Amino acid sequence: MLDRRWDVLVVGAGFAGAVMAERFAADAGLSVLVIDRRDHVGGNAYDERDAAGILVHRYGPHIFHTNSREVFDYLSAFTDWRPYEHRVLAEVDGRCLPFPINRTTLNQLEGLSLASEEEAEAYLQAIAEPVVPVRTSEDVVVGRVGRALYERFFRGYTRKQWGLDPSELDASVTARVPVRTNADDRYFTDSFQAMPAEGYTALFERLLDHPNITVSTGVDFFRVRSALDFDRLVYTGPIDDYFDRCHGPLPYRSLRFRHETLPVERFQAAAVVNYPDEAVPHTRITEYKYLTGQQSPCTSISYEYPSGEGDPYYPVPRPENQARFRAYQALADALPDVMFVGRLATYRYYNMDQVVAQALATYRRARR
Ligand code: FAD
Ligand code: UDP
Repeated sequence: MLDRRWDVLVVGAGFAGAVMAERFAADAGLSVLVIDRRDHVGGNAYDERDAAGILVHRYGPHIFHTNSREVFDYLSAFTDWRPYEHRVLAEVDGRCLPFPINRTTLNQLEGLSLASEEEAEAYLQAIAEPVVPVRTSEDVVVGRVGRALYERFFRGYTRKQWGLDPSELDASVTARVPVRTNADDRYFTDSFQAMPAEGYTALFERLLDHPNITVSTGVDFFRVRSALDFDRLVYTGPIDDYFDRCHGPLPYRSLRFRHETLPVERFQAAAVVNYPDEAVPHTRITEYKYLTGQQSPCTSISYEYPSGEGDPYYPVPRPENQARFRAYQALADALPDVMFVGRLATYRYYNMDQVVAQALATYRRARR
């Protein structure tokens, strides 16, 4: 690792880093060293079998979904897929209701019998409290479903998840979650929805399995950078770390996970149950067998507890953070041999497919 020159050094073995490494190695024929400070590849999408043999996600549930045929086809060279449509319940007033809010949710919650999309739309319009202009995560939801449903489904969850009130967060955060007038109870409606048949870690191992790629885990870039010899750098860690936080730290939200295996076949009625009540410390519980389709007399679950401390998981979308990010981006733009890619390095609340698309586009520009 230290005794030779590399064409490309990739910092981070998550989706951003692994896709960039694969392209530079397999398409451009360059030598690539991939390092990650964690002791495994896969970044936050890493999964592993626990003591009960159930495939669990160490950093919380990762459901693959995309509308991009290019991304799906690209990844399909490295994995088979298990068709999977994700469903979520929210515990509200002691009852588990379909989430995102759809017509069934409204009927069950309020004892209604809305029978068509038109009736549901008319009901929503009657309770909505439109806000103009829509700027915050509160505005989006209150403007669509009114304050009472906002408070039951969104306010507490968001305050726990982000440590901020929805009125302090960009509209884009809660706008990730649709409100439906039909009875579609799937979490996503993308054209491709599937899980890697053997898991994400197996997918990453295949992405990185190329004679031009060397992977070294448990290595922090900032400890080894002066000893390494490389032409170009792909950096997928937090962008403020790269520049010694010279413009101040960028906030990233973290999570703590509690993983458990229970001696029961089923724990809950859906893959994920959300807990919007602010008095409940966790935001959601995931039961992994739904994701994998595994059969077992026991089941493995994880609780998520949001935290201001710990590994960076989520950029925090709000105007002042975006302004600070832009100051770092200006520094990044002045470094033509360094590519900043991924959720932490471009400070964007991206899903996995968006990170893959961003990496493929960055590679295409770099090859020109
Ligand atoms: P990461 O996966 O964070 O990888 C960056 C890597 O860089 C890390 O492994 C880190 O250790 C390494 N690194 C950082 N600094 C250094 C350094 N100095 N030296 C060496 N290595 C370093 N997306 C979906 O599409 N569907 C989902 O259902 C979904 N669920 C999610 C649930 C949770 C709880 C979280 C946190 C995210 C979820 N995501 C989901 C988003 C998904 O995790 C990201 O889009 C994707 O993993 C980002 O990939 P990345 O390579 O940009 O970053
Ligand atoms: N959200 C909420 N209640 C829920 C689920 C989500 O208020 O039951 C809000 C919350 O602010 C969350 C955002 O919607 O951060 C986006 O939700 P998503 O499920 O996309 O979050 P992720 O899976 O990325 O953590």
